Amino acid sequence: MQMEKAEANPGGAAASNHVLIFPCPLQGHVNAMLKLAELLALSDLHVTFLNSDYIHYRLMTFSDLQTRIPATYPKFQFKTISDGLPPQHPRSGDKTIEMLNSFTSHCKTHLREILVSDDVLSENCKKPRVNCIIGDGMLGSLTADIGDELGMPVIHFRTISASCFWANFSLPKFYESGQLPIRGEEDMDRILGDLEGMENLVRCRDLPSFCRESERDESNGSLSTLIFETQQSLRARALILNTFEDLEGPVLSHIRLRFPKAYTLGPLHAHLNSRISKASKTTSSKQSSTTTNTLWEVDRSCMTWLDAQPPKSVLYVSFGSIAWISRQQLLEIWHGLVNSNKRFLWVIRPDMVVGKDADGDTPVELLEGTKERGFMVGWAPQEEVLAHQAVAGFMTHSGWNSTLESIVAGVPMICWPFFGDQQINSRFVSHVWKLGMDMKDVSDRKVLEKMINDLMVDNREEFTKSTDEIANLAMKAVREGGSSYSNLDTLIEYIKSTSEGK
Ligand code: UDP
Repeated sequence: MQMEKAEANPGGAAASNHVLIFPCPLQGHVNAMLKLAELLALSDLHVTFLNSDYIHYRLMTFSDLQTRIPATYPKFQFKTISDGLPPQHPRSGDKTIEMLNSFTSHCKTHLREILVSDDVLSENCKKPRVNCIIGDGMLGSLTADIGDELGMPVIHFRTISASCFWANFSLPKFYESGQLPIRGEEDMDRILGDLEGMENLVRCRDLPSFCRESERDESNGSLSTLIFETQQSLRARALILNTFEDLEGPVLSHIRLRFPKAYTLGPLHAHLNSRISKASKTTSSKQSSTTTNTLWEVDRSCMTWLDAQPPKSVLYVSFGSIAWISRQQLLEIWHGLVNSNKRFLWVIRPDMVVGKDADGDTPVELLEGTKERGFMVGWAPQEEVLAHQAVAGFMTHSGWNSTLESIVAGVPMICWPFFGDQQINSRFVSHVWKLGMDMKDVSDRKVLEKMINDLMVDNREEFTKSTDEIANLAMKAVREGGSSYSNLDTLIEYIKSTSEGK
């Protein structure tokens, strides 16, 4: 389904519109919201991207944005605010909740100051005032409150899948009816039969991880915060989702009963590439169609290694930017990889293995197996890796960006989810889209070894059929005339209409 045309102002000048984009300070969120920011800037809107100091510093250090953005989009500016933590704070994956709590309690005053300050945003009157905020729905109440206070339209962007958003939104209903909380480990395979749009699919173990007994920590209020912030999107004028109609249609039709203006624009990375290559055909623009928004130093040596591997022979392994594991889990996965006898490229972030025994000795058979068939880096150019002809599979933590990147590249997945939306994404990958297998809640070398062989050898043809089909649908959505492409045009018209007070 494509969104109806916005009710207003098709002739409004894009140049007099100014959108402030405000992501949660995490790699996955910043990545997706930057893609959207570029898409709006490509359509000639003024864009201010408001980041935490820390994230901004890392982006400018490790990505090409510092040179690429000013050279490509004269109406795009970055602004920063503090996350309230001291510079020496590690901000590592295992400290994410602490970092987010500090950021949210710290940034409201600064966000307000930035929005009311003429000097900051109008830069000597060269820019129009901000007329629309696109805020990360994970910080839903913050932007909704500011929007109410300043009389400014707010749109929420959820960087998770539509299915996860809808499951989160439906949680209160399940608590009220007594179907939740989850009653211990033995209750994990119970199916929530009447979750609309995903009937008889989602087990308790597929729900957002904060619903689990082990993670229901009332002292930091993660579950109640999740429920509260999700409901706040009802206060936004519209909702943006990084998905596409052919992928999550049934759930989207339920979402639209509560959020009539829900714009699906994804997969955003492919959408941006599609618009950039279209623009470069009609202008002399030389912009590369693979943009990087990375917060980590990319180790490109893995591309040289991949070049030397046979086609469709490598399993790419990465658990995203936040997930952390124990040394025991690391060794179990490592044994599974080596015992599978397949080639593998594994991203091990410097902060990924935590715990007292994080630096123990490594069994010699793992070192030898890795020397023969493996390669490890601290951070990879993931979109490029997935598009490489040597890559045959992706062992992923099922973060939503990684899932979409794998879908677009047509690479089947072994899902090993950790927390948040990853549990439900992996259920959809394995049981709805049939794009791979779900190894949720299992950390066992034998299981992994078998899954690798199923994915890359025994069931390869079956998976290739589904991955090709869904990759084609994804590309169709972001080409001119496709649902995501048209929805972006409609969203831009809607943003323009807000500058006229409609
Ligand atoms: N990523 C990357 N290189 C890596 C690992 C991850 O560029 O070595 C990127 C990946 O392409 C994705 C993002 O980091 O865009 C991770 O986002 P995702 O939503 O998958 O997971 P999160 O990090 O939020 O858990």
